[in-house]
Amino acid sequence: MKTILFTSICLILFSFTSMPRGAEINKESTSHSHYNEARKQTIVYICTGPGSYAYHSHARCSGLNNCSTQIYSIYLSDAINRRRSACQRCY
Ligand SMILES: [Zn+2]
Repeated sequence: MKTILFTSICLILFSFTSMPRGAEINKESTSHSHYNEARKQTIVYICTGPGSYAYHSHARCSGLNNCSTQIYSIYLSDAINRRRSACQRCY
């Protein structure tokens, strides 16, 4: 969602700047790769209680309702390292 917004802002900015400038285009592609880097660091939510096996895209998922312990927000890559699988309800 953020990426779509970001791209549309770029498109609007580009349509206003009539002069073609190579430097500007290079700058844009750099910021795009930065965005991809940020998306790898997606935050997910996990319950640490016994029997919890999934990670959730948001903390208010119904799958977390039965969580008896604290809900932690961790990186998606960490959740995968902990052998968590994507929640069936919010993914
Ligand atoms: Zn969920």
